[in-house]
Amino acid sequence: MLKIENIEVCYGFIKAIKGVSFEVEKGEIIALIGSNGAGKTTILHTITGLISPKSGTITFEGKDLTKTPAHKILGMGMAHVPEGRRIFQELTVFENLKLGAYILRDKKQIEKNLEYVYEHFPRLKERKNQLAGTLSGGEQQMLAMGRALMSNPKIILMDEPSMGLSPILVSEIFQIIKEVSQDGTTVLLVEQNAKKALTIADRAYVLETGNITLSGKAKDLLADDRIKKAYLGE
Ligand code: ATP
Repeated sequence: MLKIENIEVCYGFIKAIKGVSFEVEKGEIIALIGSNGAGKTTILHTITGLISPKSGTITFEGKDLTKTPAHKILGMGMAHVPEGRRIFQELTVFENLKLGAYILRDKKQIEKNLEYVYEHFPRLKERKNQLAGTLSGGEQQMLAMGRALMSNPKIILMDEPSMGLSPILVSEIFQIIKEVSQDGTTVLLVEQNAKKALTIADRAYVLETGNITLSGKAKDLLADDRIKKAYLGE
């Protein structure tokens, strides 16, 4: 469904991504794990067209994304939940959600998507008229996910959903990611919290300073001594 082939990304003279390749098949949860500065966010931004790679190709359902403008990529069925959530603080929960569906024309579909979001995030329904800036960190993460789901995406790209959340909220968010996946949305999950990510993912890639150094089935990686030592604190 999504194929990244040998991409290189530079910031000025510094090569942040040094020839990365990986694939996401329809229906999978793929985790991209790695520590601070490994290049995880850069990869997501390159997929969504915010950054152009120096070389390499990215294909989504057979179409070359490196030749597609960023604003068109959402319309192709891809949604991005950015690091730090980036919700509209001055707007209500409901208004934020509605903005997530701006590419859709069909009012019935928008209603249906809203119901889907409220069903998975009852807390957003309870707080639909609250200003987004006054939500707790966990609720803001839910809103960012809900907003992305409002476009009814085929694939959702999530950048560190666990960031700054208490363990209980992290578990709640990861449970919802699993449900969204079971409902048919493909997930690319970028995470520093390797343990949580590997627990829900089908397969995973480990990124270290711009290179993929390990990959495989998530359950095998959870049992891998190198992962245990470097990422699981065991
Ligand atoms: P984190 O988990 O801390 O968010 P990350 O794995 O997402 O890290 P990136 O944010 O992709 O990592 O950064 C990869 C490297 O590229 C880092 O060394 C970072 O300093 C550098 N970098 C990122 N954005 C820029 C930029 N706009 N200009 C220059 N260097 C950048």
